[in-house]
Amino acid sequence: MGLKKYISDIFYGVKSLITGMKVTGHYFVRPKEIITQQYPENRESLKMFDRFRGEVVLIHDENNMHKCTGCSACELACPNGSIEIISDKVIDPETGKSTKVIDKFVYHLSMCTFCNLCILSCPTDAIKMAQNFEHSVFDRSELTKVLNKPGSKIMPGIR
Ligand code: SF4
Ligand code: SF4
Repeated sequence: MGLKKYISDIFYGVKSLITGMKVTGHYFVRPKEIITQQYPENRESLKMFDRFRGEVVLIHDENNMHKCTGCSACELACPNGSIEIISDKVIDPETGKSTKVIDKFVYHLSMCTFCNLCILSCPTDAIKMAQNFEHSVFDRSELTKVLNKPGSKIMPGIR
């Protein structure tokens, strides 16, 4: 009985080893299928997956215009206070009425959990997730960012 179990254990061990080595052998003869990335050597060519969430950014066009109305929906949707919308009131030259504009879109990357709720809550699709992920800094305060670029304005027609 003891010898039988001993031999069956050996067979089981060899079978398990061959099963594992099958995967190794597969990629050994097909190196192009290997998905392991040589980071950071491949930094220039590295492309993250489309759904990867690196950080929240405010989209600006080539004329330094964005679609943020300062409605604060993203701030309210954020579960941990990573967004602060500091807004201002200006007179709309078209209507002559007082209207809200963003002064500062403050984003605390160090607190962000990348849950995407702010993006989903934005009625004008003004923000999106960027794919950069190298966020290491020596000074934590550098992870607090103002997302609206200096001199940027809201695109005409966005309310
Ligand atoms: S991704 Fe989530 S945690 Fe980060 S700012 Fe948006 S709502 Fe807040
Ligand atoms: S990013 Fe969108 S949700 Fe946030 S304040 Fe601007 S318009 Fe409102």
